Amino acid sequence: MSASAIRALFAVASRPEIVSFAGGNPAVEALDFEAVEDVVRQVIRDAGATALQYGVGQGRPELREHLVTVMGAEGITAHADELIVTAGGQQALELVASCFVDPGDIVIAEGPTYVGGIGALASCQADVRHVAMDDHGMQVDQLEDLLAELQREGRRAKYIYTIPNHQNPGGVSLSVERRHRLAELADAYDVMVLEDNPYGLLDFAGKVYPSIRELIPDRTIYVGTVSKTFAPGVRTGWIAAPAPVRDKLVLLREAADLCPSSLTQMVVETWFATQPWREQIDSFRDVYREKAEAMLRALDEEMPPGVSWTRPSGAFYIWMTVPAGIDTDDLAAKAIGRRVAFVPGRGFYADGSGGDRLRLCYSQPSPERIREGVTRFGELLYDELALVRAVYGTHGAPEPRARPADPAPSRGQEPG
Ligand code: PMP
Repeated sequence: MSASAIRALFAVASRPEIVSFAGGNPAVEALDFEAVEDVVRQVIRDAGATALQYGVGQGRPELREHLVTVMGAEGITAHADELIVTAGGQQALELVASCFVDPGDIVIAEGPTYVGGIGALASCQADVRHVAMDDHGMQVDQLEDLLAELQREGRRAKYIYTIPNHQNPGGVSLSVERRHRLAELADAYDVMVLEDNPYGLLDFAGKVYPSIRELIPDRTIYVGTVSKTFAPGVRTGWIAAPAPVRDKLVLLREAADLCPSSLTQMVVETWFATQPWREQIDSFRDVYREKAEAMLRALDEEMPPGVSWTRPSGAFYIWMTVPAGIDTDDLAAKAIGRRVAFVPGRGFYADGSGGDRLRLCYSQPSPERIREGVTRFGELLYDELALVRAVYGTHGAPEPRARPADPAPSRGQEPG
């Protein structure tokens, strides 16, 4: 595994003079810190000896009950016994990869997909095959072609990794029709699905989509996290999996770190038991909706012709495509010079493509700073396009070439 250039970018992007659209950090400052303090105190005061002791590998039953209720807020049914508490969704992705993947095994993922998801797969030397997306998520007809092609070759993917709701980095959701088609295809080709759902409760209009797990429960490994609905600092996520898979994952989890932190599990449990968590999620939604609107307005006004982007209806991300002749790795370095940061596209593909794409995250800066950052970025893009025209004239620039993929994007390079 190797560190990627993105890690260096994050170090620079955190400087105060830079408007950062880079890291996908939730707006934890919108939490009621006094309420959090009360919760932490209550845990230590009422059950300190339990909170400071080892726990069980699967995670506390009390917390798992609350997580079942959280899943219920999206219309997903589960039993606490099916759940394993993990150190965030990231550990869940890693455990599932190490459970299923031997070197060279095929895993299908959206293209682009979550950097940390690629990192988990790369650490197991998976052969990641991407399926392109459009405004309605993964293009399931292409998924079908790929599954059929693999079948002809006598091969089978270990699983299909999908982030169906407000995808990171695509900023789009899988349409209801395509969810049904994906479920049918998984059944027809006998493939498991890994459904990663950190953002399902952050739809700006409060809309919830049907979960893949509800459609094909026996084939779906569901991953949830409290990172975006409460706080990533408590490192609490979970897996809901069919019993045989759950049992293996518990063993792997125990081999990695024995058990989840009792202290943070009890903090999260007490948060859900005593605080108005649904209202808190509503207020997170309002925060992100306002920022998304500010970002989209600014982009509509400041971007040169030829640049296109997705229009999110929830969560944090906008996925942008720039005109031929501009390479977003180079552009990201130049953007730092203009005091604005974003993540270039290649890190979101396992095959080195994405050189004409980039991700903008609006979850952190204020609406005013968002406007400032987009203005600076627009000026840079106008200058770059003038340069491209000067070099290539009216013949147009060549399509960007795929660079060899980073052998293994390291995990942790992208905070969120
Ligand atoms: N999956 C996706 C799609 C994500 O965007 C993230 C975090 N940005 C994670 C999983 C993991 O987050 P955590 O470990 O904090 O739950």
